[in-house]
Amino acid sequence: MYDKSKELFERAQRSIPGGVNSPVRAFKSVGGTPLFMQKAKGAYMYDADGNQYIDYIASWGPMILGHAYEPVVKAIQEKAADSTSFGAPTQLEIEMAELIISMVPNVDLIRMVSSGTEACMSAIRLARGYTGRNKIIKFEGHYHGHADSFLVKAGSGVATFNIQTVPGVTAGVANDTLTAAYNDLDAVKKLAVEHKGEIAAIIVEPVAGNMGCILPEPGFHEGLRKLCDEEGIVFIFDEVMTGFRLAAGGAQERLGIKADLVTYGKVIGGGMPVGAFGGKKEIMQQIAPLGNVYQAGTLSGNPIAMIAGYTLLNELKNNPSIYKELEEKTIYLRDGLNEVLKAWGRPYVINQLGSMISIHFSDHAVVDFASAASANNELFKKYFHAMLKRGVYLPPSAFESWFLNNALTYEDLDTTIAATKESLQELL
Ligand SMILES: *Cc1c(COP(=O)(O)O)cnc(C)c1O
Repeated sequence: MYDKSKELFERAQRSIPGGVNSPVRAFKSVGGTPLFMQKAKGAYMYDADGNQYIDYIASWGPMILGHAYEPVVKAIQEKAADSTSFGAPTQLEIEMAELIISMVPNVDLIRMVSSGTEACMSAIRLARGYTGRNKIIKFEGHYHGHADSFLVKAGSGVATFNIQTVPGVTAGVANDTLTAAYNDLDAVKKLAVEHKGEIAAIIVEPVAGNMGCILPEPGFHEGLRKLCDEEGIVFIFDEVMTGFRLAAGGAQERLGIKADLVTYGKVIGGGMPVGAFGGKKEIMQQIAPLGNVYQAGTLSGNPIAMIAGYTLLNELKNNPSIYKELEEKTIYLRDGLNEVLKAWGRPYVINQLGSMISIHFSDHAVVDFASAASANNELFKKYFHAMLKRGVYLPPSAFESWFLNNALTYEDLDTTIAATKESLQELL
C-alpha cells in the first residue's frame, strides 16, 4: 500500500537530514513511513502509490479553499510568464498591502516576508527596537517559527519531539525569553512585575494551534491587552495560523481584540512561501528604510508569491460566506465525532473554533500545554494510523490542529466520522 513512499523515504534519507525538509513531516511521533505526496485537488491528496486521502492539514492552513484552486493556479501561470522575480518594487505589492489592510483591523502598514518564522522574528526585533527593551514573554506550547528567541518551551515539532532545550540557541538569547502557561493571566502579571520595564513584547497565538487546538479563556486576551497598555509592552498577535482563517480579519476580528503588531503566514500566501508583519504606524515606521530597525529580503514580495496570495485573499474577502460554511462544516464534524467518541466510552476532549479542531484523548479539559501533554498521546498515534489506513490524512501529531478546507463535502465529513467510529474499535 505504501511501497513507493517507503522507497522514496529510504532514498530521501541519503540526501536530506531525516528525509524531510520540516521535522513534523517525518511521522516520527506517530511512527511509520511518511507518505510522499504526488498531487492534490480540492479536498483530496494522492500519494506516490496512488492512494487517495481526505486532507485535514490543508498544507497547515493555506489550502483553505482546497488544493489546486483554479483561480490561484491560473494567476500563477499567467504571472510567471512576466518573470518570476525582479528585485525591484512592483504595483502588485501595493495591491497586496492595500488588500490586507482592507481586510484586517489595526494594520496601518505591512511588510511582506517569505515565511511565518521571518514575520515573527522581525516583529520581535521591531518591538525591541521600538521599546528599547530586551525581554519577551511567550507561552508554553506556542510556536512562532524557528528563530532562536522562540525555541524556548515551544509547540509544534519542538513539543512533538519533546526537545527541552534546543542546542545552538545561546543562553543569552534563551534568558531573554520568559514563558508562562497559556490562559494563565496571573503568571504573566507576575512576570511583568518581576521584570518591570524590561519587557518589549508579549507574543501569543490568539487561538493556539501548535499543541492541538486550544481556545483562549474568556478575559485572557483582554487581560493581556490591559497589561500591555499599562506597562508599555508591544502586544503581538501571531496570526500565522488564525489570520484569514478564523475570519477575513483573523483572530483580531473573531475575538474582538486589538493587537499592536500582527504576524501572518500560511493562508496569506495561497500555498506560496509568504509571511507578513504589520500594525500600528508609529511602531512600523521604525523599520528600515524609514527607521533603523533593519529587515530585508531578496525575494520578499515576490510576484508569483504575491499573485497567489492576492488571488486567494481576494476570494476570501469577496465571499464572506466561506467562513460561515467552513464553520458549519467543522461543527458538523465535531458533533459527529462527539457522537462516535461518546459511544466508544473512553475519555476524550474536542476543542474547536471556526475551522480549527482537534481531539485530545484526555480525561481533563485541555487549556494549556501541560494539559495537552498529559493526554494519552499513544492513543492518538494509533488513531492517526487507523484513520490513515481508511484514507483520512490527519496531522501526524496530537500537538497540531486540524484545518478544514472548504472543498470538503458533507459526504467527506460523514466518511471521516464513519472512519473514526471504525478506528476507535481498533483502539480498544
Ligand atoms: C507555522 C507557524 C509559524 C511559522 O511559520 P513558517 O512559515 O513555518 O515559518 C509561526 N507561528 C505560528 C502560529 C505558526 O503556526
